[in-house]
Amino acid sequence: MRVLETIEPKEVMFFFEELSARHRCSQHEKDATDYIAAFAETRGLEYHRDQLDNIIVKKPGTPGYEAAPTVILHGHIDMVCKLDEGVTHDFATQGVTLKVDGDRIRAEGTTLGADNGLGISYMLALLDSDDIPHPPLECVMTVMEEMGKVGGDNVDLTKLTGKRMIDFNWIEEKQLLAGCSGDVSCRIDVDTEWQAAPAGHLALIVDIRGLLGGHCEFDIHLERGNAIAILGRLLRAAMKAGNVAVARVSGGVQNNVIPAEAQATLLVAETEAATVTKAVEALAGDIKAEFRRADPGMRIEISRSDARPERVMSEAAAKRLVQVIALLPNGITNQNLEVPGNWETSNNIGLMITAGDRVEITSTITSAVTSRKHLLLDQMMQLADLAGEGVRAKQIGLDAPEFPWNPNSRMLEIARQSYERVMGCKPDVLVSVCSLELGMFTQRIDGLDTIGIGTNLFDLHSPKESMDHTSAARVWPLIKDVMRSLNQ
Ligand SMILES: [Zn+2]
Repeated sequence: MRVLETIEPKEVMFFFEELSARHRCSQHEKDATDYIAAFAETRGLEYHRDQLDNIIVKKPGTPGYEAAPTVILHGHIDMVCKLDEGVTHDFATQGVTLKVDGDRIRAEGTTLGADNGLGISYMLALLDSDDIPHPPLECVMTVMEEMGKVGGDNVDLTKLTGKRMIDFNWIEEKQLLAGCSGDVSCRIDVDTEWQAAPAGHLALIVDIRGLLGGHCEFDIHLERGNAIAILGRLLRAAMKAGNVAVARVSGGVQNNVIPAEAQATLLVAETEAATVTKAVEALAGDIKAEFRRADPGMRIEISRSDARPERVMSEAAAKRLVQVIALLPNGITNQNLEVPGNWETSNNIGLMITAGDRVEITSTITSAVTSRKHLLLDQMMQLADLAGEGVRAKQIGLDAPEFPWNPNSRMLEIARQSYERVMGCKPDVLVSVCSLELGMFTQRIDGLDTIGIGTNLFDLHSPKESMDHTSAARVWPLIKDVMRSLNQ
C-alpha cells in the first residue's frame, strides 16, 4: 500500500509519492523528468524537454475553455537534499521515504522535497484530470532552482504563449503572492600580500559569537548584528591602538545568511598587547550596547592565544581589508513606500573567508527594483576600484530579477475572488522580499500577469521539512476554482 494512499487530495498525493520515489536532488533531475515525459507521452500531451531536463507540458483547454487565455503554471522539480545527523541514505537509489505524522507529511531522516515536489504534483494532477474545467495549460517544470535558479534562467520561454501565470513555489496558504524581490551576489577579493610573521609577537584572537543571524531576506529589517561588519570595526580599533598584524579573518557560513560569528587572529608586540586589548574591549562594550535590543546574546572576546601563525598580511593589505569591510553597505538601504511595512533594497555581507592569497567577502543584494539593486552592486565595484590594486569586485552567480508588484493585476483579482469563495475569508496579498524564480518569467515575457499560490510547508531545506497535508487539501479546491474562473 502506498504511504499516502488515504491522504487527501488523493489525486495530488499520488503524484507527490511518485515523484518522491525518484532522484530529484538539484542537478540530478533526469529520473524525475523521464517520469514526467513518459506521463505526457502516455496521455498524448505535447511536451518540450531541454538539455538541462527542464520540461514544459501543454494541455488544451477543456470543453468551453478552448479559447480562454492560456495560463502558464510553474514549479521546480529539484529539491535540496540533506540528511539528518547520523542518517545514511542514498537519494539516487532510494528517493525519499515518506511518513505521515498527524496532519504533517515528513521524510525519514531527510529533507522532504515538498519544496517544490508539491507544486509539480498539483500540475500533474491538473494535466491528468478529465473533470476539472481549465484554460489551455502550459506547465513549466524547472530544474536546479535550489542552486541559484539555473533552470528558470535557461528554460526556453519561446515555447510559451501564455500571458497569465500561476507559480506554486510558495509556502503559505493564507497568502497570495503578488510580487517578490530579485537578488544578485557580489564578491570582493582583497589580496593578502603574505609576509613572514614578526618574531617575538604574541597572538590575540578576536572572537564574536552568539548573534542571532537569520535570513538575509526575511530578517534583514531586524537590525541584528552582522558579525563580519562588527569584526571590521574591532580590527580598525585594534590597528589604531597599536602596531597590529592580521594573520587570519573569517566570518559567516553562507552569503544569504546574516553572519552570527566571526573571528580574527592578530599578532602584536608584547608591549602593545594590553593597549590593543583595552581598545578592542572598549569598542566591544559600545557595540554590545548598540545591539542590546536587537542582538542581546552577542559575545565579543579578545584573548591571548598560543597559536604561532607563520605569516601575516602586509600592513597595506590589512588596512585595505578593514577599509573594504567598513565601507561596504550593509542592511536595508531603502524602504518600500509602495508596499507598507516592506523594505525594498538591502545588502547582507554574508561570508568572509581567507582563501589562498586573498580574503573573499561575499554579499547578497536583494531588491524589488532592479536599478536600485544594480546601484548597490555598482557601489561595490566602485569601492573596489577606489581601493586600487589588490582589491577586486565581481558579480557571483545570476542576476535574478524581481517580480514587480502590480496593483491592477487581473490574475490577482480572479484569485482573490476564488480564495474568498473557497476559503471563506480574504487572503493576505503578499509582496515578498525574497527572490524567486518567477521573476525570471515576468522579466522575459512582456505583459505577463502572475500570482503565486502557496501551501503550508515548514522548515524548508532542512531534514525537519514537513508539509501540512490538510493545507494541500484546502489549496487543491482553490486551485481548481481558479482554473474554472480563468475563462474571464
Ligand atoms: Zn527551496
